[in-house]
Amino acid sequence: MNQLLEIRKKVVEKGIEMLATNLTVGTWGNISCRVPDQDYVAITPSGMSYDTLVPDDIVVLDLRGNIVNGTRKPSIEVPLHLAIYIAREDVHAIVHTHSAYATAMAVSRKDIPGAVEDLVQIVGGNVRVNEYALPGTEQLGINTVKALQGRNAVLLANHGMLGVGRDLEEALRVCLIVEKSAQITLFAQLMGGVVELSQNDIDGMRNFYLGGYGQRK
Ligand code: 13P
Ligand code: ZN
Repeated sequence: MNQLLEIRKKVVEKGIEMLATNLTVGTWGNISCRVPDQDYVAITPSGMSYDTLVPDDIVVLDLRGNIVNGTRKPSIEVPLHLAIYIAREDVHAIVHTHSAYATAMAVSRKDIPGAVEDLVQIVGGNVRVNEYALPGTEQLGINTVKALQGRNAVLLANHGMLGVGRDLEEALRVCLIVEKSAQITLFAQLMGGVVELSQNDIDGMRNFYLGGYGQRK
């Protein structure tokens, strides 16, 4: 099976998973991943229902945004995704969602504190809110790269959330953990406040996740 078809299928699968896990409603949000060994990115088309997408709907671009394969109009957030891939060589997949609790934090312009074990392991610390910029703009890419520094997730002010990872599975998992952490933060605030973890404990848990967590030989 050719490599591009495999990648397009995975992007389609993640779109269905993003809908099924309530990370977005309707056609909002978008998903992309790098094409291994090439400076290409596969991204969802703009404004199409995730549950009707077929592999051919996924657009393949170079890092300058030129379409190299596909006939659909790509996501309006191409500049955002490309800015991240250019700035972060460790990032191989991006999932952008409009989930409810993360967006509640994003409209309040409040960071999600580094206070939950799974969050600090997978994200690397707190989740910052970026400086506001309109959707689809180059400025949104610039502001997002800045707020994403040293992290795997960011809140997009008055918009939503974005998670990155070493592959699509990890990027989607980041979004699920961030959404859960946003919900926990809001409930904890109702109960009197959040107790943040120390930087030392955050670093220790992050290193454990990267180096030793799970089944390794
Ligand atoms: P697209 O459908 O063009 O990907 O736009 C959705 C979105 O979430 C914009 O921020
Ligand atoms: Zn969006």
